Amino acid sequence: MDNDFCFKCGTKLFFLKNSNNILSSECEKCGQGYGKEKGKTLIESRGNSSLSIPLYFIIFENKKLSNERINQIASSFIDYDKRYLKVFLEDINNELTNPKRKLTEFHDSVGSEEIARDYLSRLSERIQNLLKLKL
Ligand SMILES: [Zn+2]
Repeated sequence: MDNDFCFKCGTKLFFLKNSNNILSSECEKCGQGYGKEKGKTLIESRGNSSLSIPLYFIIFENKKLSNERINQIASSFIDYDKRYLKVFLEDINNELTNPKRKLTEFHDSVGSEEIARDYLSRLSERIQNLLKLKL
């Protein structure tokens, strides 16, 4: 339960009881906000949440992203905690091979599912390449 850490900077997170079964937290170091289900770790209750951070980048994109933009976004993930990146890449892969949700429902994105899936696929490939380069 207390193994939750910030996906961005790895700082330990402390959760406060919110409404219903949702617990919320804000990272003391970088300010990233998180929510999770009661009784579950952040990664276990990730349901939709590990994809939330990447989807924020494309809420206002109404056409396929350029390679430059993909590179830029991928670079911003490289310093994230590796435990998160592993889960995040797995989740993208699962969602792309076995779609379970409507990606454009996230914050009423203006783009199409095709744009969102093309983005996630290229983003995950790019991040994996960058990680290989870094290791
Ligand atoms: Zn943080």
